[in-house]
Amino acid sequence: MQSQVKASVMEAIGETPVVRLSRIFPAANVAAKLEYMNPGGSIKDRMVRHMLRGMPSGTAHVVESSSGNTGAALAMASAVMGLRCDVTVPDTTSSEKVKRIGAYGASVHLCAPDDYHAAAERLAGEHDAHYLDQYCTPLNREAHYRDTGPELWRQLAGEVDVFVCGVGSGGTISGIGRYLKEQNKSVRVIGVEPLNSAYRKLVTDRPADGSFKSAIEGVGKRQPSSSFDPAVVDDVVQVKDEDALDWCRRLAQKEGILAGGSSGCVVAGIAQLLPRLQGLRVATVFPDSGVYYLSKYF
Ligand code: PMP
Repeated sequence: MQSQVKASVMEAIGETPVVRLSRIFPAANVAAKLEYMNPGGSIKDRMVRHMLRGMPSGTAHVVESSSGNTGAALAMASAVMGLRCDVTVPDTTSSEKVKRIGAYGASVHLCAPDDYHAAAERLAGEHDAHYLDQYCTPLNREAHYRDTGPELWRQLAGEVDVFVCGVGSGGTISGIGRYLKEQNKSVRVIGVEPLNSAYRKLVTDRPADGSFKSAIEGVGKRQPSSSFDPAVVDDVVQVKDEDALDWCRRLAQKEGILAGGSSGCVVAGIAQLLPRLQGLRVATVFPDSGVYYLSKYF
């Protein structure tokens, strides 16, 4: 018998289960990877682990701007690695997510939604700290290309025709999508975002009116991030916040999957796409848990 004890929670990241959504989509073939089962509670554990492997040696202080999950993942990793950690978050972030970052011993800075990236940059400059910058670093999508993509492909035994994914920074869809297409070039990759977010215009030339505003945390951007690779994504669909939240509740009540609003968003996108998905094998990822939004969505 071999010991299965991990050296730290960092080694417990990944190998999250993939579950068929046969109760909400009985006539379709849709499988979701439950990324909220990572130790830090979201898919961002993988990206942070990869970004920290690439940080300059001797780094003792890290800074990141985050809608919450990257901050929690970084705060968790910093606790394990003995790093000082500062996280800037938009002041619209759910209080559970803000408290979760602080619970790991990190400092949380609430900022205006249009200033939290710049605030992180300023903070890193003032303290000579390492700014991870998930919205610009190529390490974001590389983490999903090297880690999440191969794991999903293996768990699906290659049985996938369409990958549908929520888009925030774009790292997840770009990294997983590129890996899946390299394994089978006929795989289609479709992004889902809230109404008036910026990515659909990048991929399809359908106009955005610049009025983006959504209560769904983690997905959608007024300005596209360079972590998004338009060459990988074949189409982007947009969904209403109320539909995302409606599907979020249905996921909990029919599948027993208590996932966050961005998971509801991607399921709303799949529901919208259903006529195009007949007979196809669909895969998606659920980035985080509904536990962080109990007071906001449920
Ligand atoms: N869902 C949630 C809850 C998130 O925190 C994020 C990250 N912003 C995403 C979806 C989108 O992932 P990505 O940034 O890789 O596009």
